[in-house]
Amino acid sequence: MSQPMIALTFDDGPNTVITPLVLDILKENDAVGTFFLIAQNITPESAEMVRRAVAQGCDIENHSLTHGFMDKMTAEEIRAEVKACTEQIVAITGREPQFFRPPFIAVNQTMYDNIDYTFICGAGCEDWVPTVSAEERAERVLANAEDGQIVLLHDMQWNMNTVEALKTIVPELKKRGYRFVTCAQLFAEAGVTPVHGRLYSNVYQTIDRP
Ligand SMILES: [Zn+2]
Repeated sequence: MSQPMIALTFDDGPNTVITPLVLDILKENDAVGTFFLIAQNITPESAEMVRRAVAQGCDIENHSLTHGFMDKMTAEEIRAEVKACTEQIVAITGREPQFFRPPFIAVNQTMYDNIDYTFICGAGCEDWVPTVSAEERAERVLANAEDGQIVLLHDMQWNMNTVEALKTIVPELKKRGYRFVTCAQLFAEAGVTPVHGRLYSNVYQTIDRP
């Protein structure tokens, strides 16, 4: 069997506090990840973190402009949310996103009809809940890890527990033989053509709705 792959993904950045700490841990472990940006969080300072992520081999993907409930939006509003984020990503990185993470993983058919990217969910560990400790986050990710998985984490402001958890998660997955890949690399290397209108948490299987 070939080496198992896993895609660490980080939502709700960029910022100048947590994003660089996540990048430090990835770099120390020769690992890459995928950052799903909220475009309204991009400032001249946080854009530097995005450039650093790209320089480290990470990919930048789309997590909307304002992080609203897009399943309650009109087609026009949905398109505007995605377009605004894509434009900022292209301006910073020169690369068009290929993947979209729906805010709150709230999805409906209008969204599928109006967003051309592959929809990503991911295996989470409730790392957006402040009371879930770093140890619990690490335990959950490590207990659920499997080949082809997309791990859902957050580099949002103040999320130090996830930084602490990553200090356990990344070296341990490495020890277990995992190769860290971006979402785009995951699909390419698995030889899987993403199906539009489906939601992925693992490259080898789609789910209807969480
Ligand atoms: Zn989010």
